[in-house]
Amino acid sequence: MSTSEIIERCTGLFEDLSFSAARQWKAEDPDRRVIGYMPVYIPEEIIHAAGMMPVGIVGGGDQLEVIHGDAYYQSYICRIPRSTIELGITKRLDFLDGMLFPSICDVIRNLSGMWKMLYPDVYVRYFDVPQNYDDDVGGTYYRQELNELREGLETVGGKSITDDAINASIAVYNERRRLVREVYDFRSQTPWRAPAVEVYLLMRAGLVIPVEEHIAMMQAYLDAAVAEDRPMRDNCRVVINGSFCEQPPLNLIKSIEMSGCYIVDDDYMLGNRWLLEDVDNSGDPLKSLADAYLHHSADTAAKYCTKKEEVGQFLLESVRKTKAEGVIFAAPSFCDPALLERPMLADRMTEHNIPHISFKYAENSGQMQPIREQAGTFADSIKLWS
Ligand code: SF4
Repeated sequence: MSTSEIIERCTGLFEDLSFSAARQWKAEDPDRRVIGYMPVYIPEEIIHAAGMMPVGIVGGGDQLEVIHGDAYYQSYICRIPRSTIELGITKRLDFLDGMLFPSICDVIRNLSGMWKMLYPDVYVRYFDVPQNYDDDVGGTYYRQELNELREGLETVGGKSITDDAINASIAVYNERRRLVREVYDFRSQTPWRAPAVEVYLLMRAGLVIPVEEHIAMMQAYLDAAVAEDRPMRDNCRVVINGSFCEQPPLNLIKSIEMSGCYIVDDDYMLGNRWLLEDVDNSGDPLKSLADAYLHHSADTAAKYCTKKEEVGQFLLESVRKTKAEGVIFAAPSFCDPALLERPMLADRMTEHNIPHISFKYAENSGQMQPIREQAGTFADSIKLWS
C-alpha cells in the first residue's frame, strides 16, 4: 500500500464519529466488550488481556456541533468534556460497555461523575495514578489501582484476567510502542518524508482499531514512506508541546507545517508514548506496569512532577534529541495542566536559548490565518537570527 492509501483509511477513521470500526469489531462476537477511555494514559494491556477492545475518546473535534453538551458545563472550561457529553447524548458512544477517566484534571474527574449518573448501566471508573514515585508508596498504591481495574473488567466480561494473559498483552503493546518510536524517529530524521498530519492521523487511528491492526498499519506506513521520494523544504524544526488532551483541528496541524515548520516531535497522542521503554512481561504484570509508570514514563505536564528543578528536562531532551530549533507551546484554552506548566517550561527554554512561541486553540478553532502568520513569523525569525 502507498502512504496515501494508508492515510486515506486513517482519515476515514478520524472522521467517523460513529466509531464504526469498533462497533463492527464488537458485532463479530456477542461476547466481545469495548471499553472507552479519555486522554491521556490508561494501561490498555489489562483491557486487551480481558479480550476487550480499548477505544480512545478524544472529543468531537470540529465536525461535531455541540448542542446538549454546553448545558452541562460553564463556558470557562475547555471544549472536550462538552463534546464528549454530546457524543454520549447523541448515542454515538452507546456501544461502550465501560468508560475510563484517567486522572488528569478536575474536568475529567467531574466528567466521570456525570457519566456515572447519565449511564448507570455502564462500567465507569475514575482511574487514579500515583503522585509519589517511591516503589513502596506510589508503587503499592498504583498496583492496587491496577488490580481494582482488573477486578472491574472481570465483572464486565464475566471471566478472570490471568497474569499470563496480561503478560501476553504487554508483549503486544511493547510491539506497538516499538513501532510508535520508529515512526517518530523516522519523522524526526526525515520530516519531509512523514508529514506531521500523516503521522498524526496514523497515531489517531490507533485509538479506534484493534492494536494488532494498528501495528500492521504503522509497519505498512513505514515501509511505504521509506520507499517514496518526497521533496525536502527549507522548513525549520519545531517541537509541539501542550496538546496532549483536547486535540487541535487537523487544519491547525497542517497550518503549522505549511507556515514553514517541520514538526519533529509532539505530544498529540501522548498515551501511546507514555511508557518510554518495553515493559517486562516475564513476571508479575501489575508490578511491571507499575514499575514502568513510576520509573520509565514521559515527564510532561500531564504527569505530576515531584521536583521543580526537573520540570522541563523531558522537553529539553526532546529538543536535543530531535535537533529541534524551536518549541511551539500549543494548548487548549482553559487547559489547567498545560497552561499552568507552560510558564515554567518557557522559562526553561529561555534559559537554554531555545526560541519559543505560545498560542491556545479549541478543538473547533476555525481561524487558522493568525496561527499560520504567527508560526510563519516564528519560522522566519529562526532562519534569520538563530
Ligand atoms: S483539555 Fe486540559 S483541562 Fe480540559 S480536560 Fe483535558 S487536561 Fe483537562
